[in-house]
Formats: sequence, C-alpha cells, structure tokens
Amino acid sequence: MKVAEYFEKANGQTLISFEVLPPLKGGGMKAIFDTLDPLMEFKPPFVDVTYHREEFIYNKRESGYYEKTAIRKRPGTVGICASIMHRYGVDAVPHLICGGFTKEETENVLIDLNFLNIQNVLCLRGDARKFETKFVPQAGGHNYALDLVGQVQGMNKGLYLDTNIKDGEKTDFCIGIAGYPEKHFESPNMDLDLGFTKQKIEAGANYIVTQMFFDNKKYFEYVELCRKNGITVPIVPGLKPLTKLYQLNSIPRMFYINLPHDLVDAITKAKTKEAIKEVGIEWCIQQSKELKAAGVPCLHYYTMGDTATIKRIVEAVY
Ligand code: FAD
Repeated sequence: MKVAEYFEKANGQTLISFEVLPPLKGGGMKAIFDTLDPLMEFKPPFVDVTYHREEFIYNKRESGYYEKTAIRKRPGTVGICASIMHRYGVDAVPHLICGGFTKEETENVLIDLNFLNIQNVLCLRGDARKFETKFVPQAGGHNYALDLVGQVQGMNKGLYLDTNIKDGEKTDFCIGIAGYPEKHFESPNMDLDLGFTKQKIEAGANYIVTQMFFDNKKYFEYVELCRKNGITVPIVPGLKPLTKLYQLNSIPRMFYINLPHDLVDAITKAKTKEAIKEVGIEWCIQQSKELKAAGVPCLHYYTMGDTATIKRIVEAVY
C-alpha cells in the first residue's frame, strides 16, 4: 500500500515509522533484521531505507602517491526493501537520490521496484560527497530532487526515457520528499526553499518527511508556513534522539540544525555517558508526546542502528 493511503486511512491517528541504513558492503541483512525485529511490535506500516552515494577514498601507492577511488560503501536498496517486505509484511520505502545515478540507471531501478510491487519512493537530491564542497550532479543525471520527482511521475504516466516506448506500463509510485523546518542550508532563505518544495508537490510528490529537529516549535512553524504557502500534503516529523556528548557539535555540523539551549544545558550538566543518554532519550520522548498530541500524521524515527534507544522512546509514547 502507498504511504499516502496509510495517512488517509489513519483517521487522524498518529502512525509510526522507522528509517534504517543499508549494511556496509560485505555485510548481510542480519544488521537490518537485528534493528527491525524488536521494533515490529509497534506495527509500523512502512520502513524507509536510506541510499548512500559512492565516496572517494585515497589509497597510498608504493610510489608514495595517493590514488583516488570511488567506492559505494553501502549497496543499493532494492533487494533490502524486497527483503523487508517479505519478512515483515510491511511496506518499504527506498530512498532515491540524484547523486551517482544517470537518468537511465534511475529508470532501471524504478522498473525493478515496480516489478517487486514496491509502490513507494522518497525522492532526494543527496548531499555532496566527502571531500567535495558542493553537490556535483552525475553526468546524465538529475540536478535537483524536483527533476527526480518529475521522472517518477513521468513513469506513473507511462513515460519512459526511450520515447519509442508508446504503450509503456504506467507505474503507480507514491512519492515522498524532504522538508527542512530550519531551512535547507544551501537555500538563501525560507521563502525560496518553500517555493522549491511547493514545486516538488506540484510535480507529483504526495508527502513530506522533515529533517530532524530538536525544538518542536520549529516543526509547528514550518507546517504553518507550508500551509500559508499552499502546501497541503501531510508533513511527517523526522526524529532522532541525541545520546552522546560529541553530538552537540556533530549534529549541527552535519545536519545544519540548531539545538535548543535547554537541551544543550541539560546534556552538558549530565555527569556520565549514561546520564547524557538519559537526557537525550527523555527529550525525544517529550518531543514525540507533544507531536502526537498535536495529531501529526506519523512519527518517523531515524534509528541509526540504535534499536534499544528507539524502542524505549516508542514504548514511552505509545
Ligand atoms: P533539493 O530539493 O534538490 O534541494 C536542494 C537545494 O536546492 C535546496 O537548497 C533547495 O532550496 C534548492 N533547490 C531545489 N530545487 C531547485 C531548483 N529547481 N533550482 C534551484 N534550486 C533548487 N541523503 C542521502 O544521500 N541519502 C538518503 O537516503 C537521504 N535521506 C534523507 C531523508 C530525509 C527525510 C531528509 C530530510 C534528508 C535526507 N537526505 C538523504 C539528505 C538530502 O539528500 C540532503 O538534505 C540534500 O542536501 C538535499 O536534498 P533535497 O532532496 O532536499 O534536495
């Protein structure tokens, strides 16, 4: 079933969903099952699987020079999604990114997803590769998530890249996109960012999942701004607990978001690693409870492989 249909059928109830990372190349599905098995009791209707572009690594040669090699550390999502659906009978949402894919490669992935009856995709641009200062599109690929949404929506109308295909099967993908309560970091201002978000909805996207945030006010203000700007689709809050001291710096650096004063204060006052974790978990529980009470369509947890923490949070909220 499509994610948008789950929201429609929920009748105002707040659903729950999880996001998992593919295992590092060389690993198997065990890591994903170990993450998801204990969370299935909460009956998530869907599970997202992230996608990671190739990275450059530098290998030192005998000559002393370094050789730059591109490697994809985490393999594709199609098989993982099929495996999740098969094991748990829930829907899987593969993330599709522009970076690292030609349009033809994207089309082939979409064809495979369609064959497997995977009806959901989250369309994203992807970030800059490590050691690159800005996002570099793939030659023959898309520059923006908007273009990717256009390609998926095209296939939903039976339009394939090969224009000789006159009677192509129409796919039926439900399309999610990313949203940024604290603005996408490259965008000069919120108005422009929202303008592009609206274009993605007009191009066929059905719902938004937000970047993580630690101050619910940011989410509520973002939803209000979206509604004022004519963006009416469901907006799912993305949540991640802060559980380690170093994350006070790494989260703002990696995700371009602010951490509220009270949270930073409580974390810095906590005396042990365990106490820090408790503060982060309790903060996420309170965030989740408030969002649920406000009737958000779904609480979407970025698991990052830390099942025990996510389980504690969800148990306290549901
Ligand atoms: P876009 O919508 O393309 O926007 C990128 C920037 O360009 C923004 O500043 C926007 O305002 C601007 N812009 C948009 N359209 C246009 C246009 N037509 N012309 C000019 N400017 C434009 N990354 C991964 O690599 N893999 C993942 O699995 C992944 N999952 C994510 C899940 C969620 C819920 C979120 C919030 C993010 C995720 N990301 C993932 C990170 C995401 O790829 C980055 O945040 C990326 O920098 C932007 O992606 P986007 O889809 O929002 O890009």
